[in-house]
Amino acid sequence: MEFRDLKKQYQVLKKDIDSVVIDAMTNANFILGNDVKELEKELADYVGVKHCVACANGTDALTLAAMSLDLKPGDAVFVPDFTFFASGEIVAFEGATPVFVDVYKDTYNMSAESLEEAIKAVINEGKLKPKAVIPVDLFGMTADYEKIIPVAKKYNLKVIEDAAQGFGGTLNGKRAGSFGDIACTSFFPAKPLGCYGDGGAVFTNDDNVYDYLISVRMHGRSKDDVYNNLRIGINSRLDAIQAKILKIKLKAFKETELELVNKVAKVYDDGLKDVVTTPVIPEKFYSSWAQYTIVVENREDLATYLKENGIPTKVYYGIPMHKQKAFERIRTKYIDMPNNDFLHERDISIPIGPYLSTDDQNKVISCIKKFYGK
Ligand SMILES: *Cc1c(COP(=O)(O)O)cnc(C)c1O
Repeated sequence: MEFRDLKKQYQVLKKDIDSVVIDAMTNANFILGNDVKELEKELADYVGVKHCVACANGTDALTLAAMSLDLKPGDAVFVPDFTFFASGEIVAFEGATPVFVDVYKDTYNMSAESLEEAIKAVINEGKLKPKAVIPVDLFGMTADYEKIIPVAKKYNLKVIEDAAQGFGGTLNGKRAGSFGDIACTSFFPAKPLGCYGDGGAVFTNDDNVYDYLISVRMHGRSKDDVYNNLRIGINSRLDAIQAKILKIKLKAFKETELELVNKVAKVYDDGLKDVVTTPVIPEKFYSSWAQYTIVVENREDLATYLKENGIPTKVYYGIPMHKQKAFERIRTKYIDMPNNDFLHERDISIPIGPYLSTDDQNKVISCIKKFYGK
């Protein structure tokens, strides 16, 4: 059994994908170009924002967003303690300080109350200047922006949405990638919308930020002359071949995959809710199910038992952000984070995806039930 079945997805989309890959090689336009422009337009329309700027990966998307805020040493940026390393890494890469915040125990997403507590602790200490917050749309569900944005406004913080796992999810009908001042996503193959390599994108409604991003993703170029450089930038562009593949995958995502993966999640909910703690998706949210993550006792034994039965599992994330060795030289922890501590020791993700077969899914459910003697 595959953890996320990208092989099956390819078999379903093979005819279209093979033909556009050959097109890309025949045309011999490999970097940016019309396909990327068209994709950017389709992505912006789908997400419901004015601009999309495609780039080389999700980490670069976050870096470009951080550059647009001009983060500096002495700035504090608030990041959930329960996330992939890149959400905090890019803050430290700009020389600013990531300050980690607790999450809600039922959704794994940033707690607005804990955010405010961390902001106050930083202000009281008086060394760092609170500058921005990076809520993460973890496992496919957006953070609770209805609660987080008012806190950000109260303390005058910019909001960077890390929608690397959230693409396709909604909050009150608004799509992931449309929250905050600027949003980022990843097209890493296993994300809800993935390409066949690395890829990412930044979303914004702000015309000036858009112009800035177009410039910095290509060495700080000026608008009409590639070799006239106005500022220090990076090189982070999307390949035409990935854009062509993403256009096909986006169509499948919109037409079938997002609905299919929600059906799969529903079957898990019904089959497992009396056995383990299943994911909580409050009514105003719709998830794109980057992961299906359960909270259990005896996690290691369960993983071993499932592995013996041919079922792969993964633990996201073994090490809380504030305990990562990479951050040991800076103070990143200002408050207690009991929900993180609880979840980090008990959560485990099981196979999910739009192409998970009913047979495989039934096997996962019956093995978990058997393990817990139900
Ligand atoms: C995957 C991921 C990223 C980074 O995306 P890449 O494309 O792998 O660079 C950032 N944040 C979160 C929450 C992610 O899951």
